Amino acid sequence: MIVDATVGQSRSFRFVQVLPLGECELFIEDAYYQDSPVLDHDAATRRLDRYAGRRGWNGEMSGSESGILPVIAGGDFAAWQDERRIDGVGRIGVHAGFVHPLTGYTVPFAVETALAIAHAKDLSGPALAEMLDERAQAHWKATGYYRRVASMLFGAARASKRWKVFERFYHLPSARIERFFAARATGLDRLRIACGKPPVPLLRALRALVTQRAPLLEEE
Ligand SMILES: Cc1cc2nc3c(=O)[nH]c(=O)nc-3n(C[C@H](O)[C@H](O)[C@H](O)COP(=O)(O)OP(=O)(O)OC[C@H]3O[C@@H](n4cnc5c(N)ncnc54)[C@H](O)[C@@H]3O)c2cc1C
Repeated sequence: MIVDATVGQSRSFRFVQVLPLGECELFIEDAYYQDSPVLDHDAATRRLDRYAGRRGWNGEMSGSESGILPVIAGGDFAAWQDERRIDGVGRIGVHAGFVHPLTGYTVPFAVETALAIAHAKDLSGPALAEMLDERAQAHWKATGYYRRVASMLFGAARASKRWKVFERFYHLPSARIERFFAARATGLDRLRIACGKPPVPLLRALRALVTQRAPLLEEE
């Protein structure tokens, strides 16, 4: 089950993901797309227990993790980069901006960055720092579309109705969904995603696009 959004929604778009890890082992994830980075760990655990219990899955828990991932809808990337730059030190990963704005995931970009470093002719600190800085800027530029989608999702769709956006999205062909999550959506993909009856009110969507979002921040 990739996205089970039949669960309670309340103040966020919430879905449960269930993937088999083995014959008798399941990975169950409870995800919330919400406006504030607040996680009530105990409440989330209880909801997960109830979800599993209702299905008769009463086995042992072999491990768990939890976390809060960023959804990036805008910001001044140059200023953020300037603030964090350390002369002569190459910076990688989510803390250097190599992240999918809408999912907070990093794996596809981590692989690209690793390959770029492996192919670099000059592995000195200053050369790597410059190369990675430029790649991060190019990544920011290339992912503007996803920040606009994030803006629309959070600015135009009411929290309890956000599932409608995803319901529509997950009816698209799987190759299109894969490209979206790898931040490689083509022009045609974008057109197809935007086609049809809008899942959010048009005026709210336009307002969301021109509204300034909170600046890109990272807690130390
Ligand atoms: C529940 C959950 C599920 C997720 N699922 C996915 C998924 O399916 N796919 C996906 O792509 N992503 C997923 N993510 C996100 C993914 O885990 C992060 O994007 C990824 O861990 C970021 O890796 P990173 O190395 O860039 O940064 P981090 O994991 O934050 O690693 C940075 C490391 O640097 C260390 N560090 C910081 N400052 C210094 C310093 N000055 N000196 C030395 N060390 C320092 C930190 O301690 C840390 O260990 C998930 C996250 C969570 C919480």
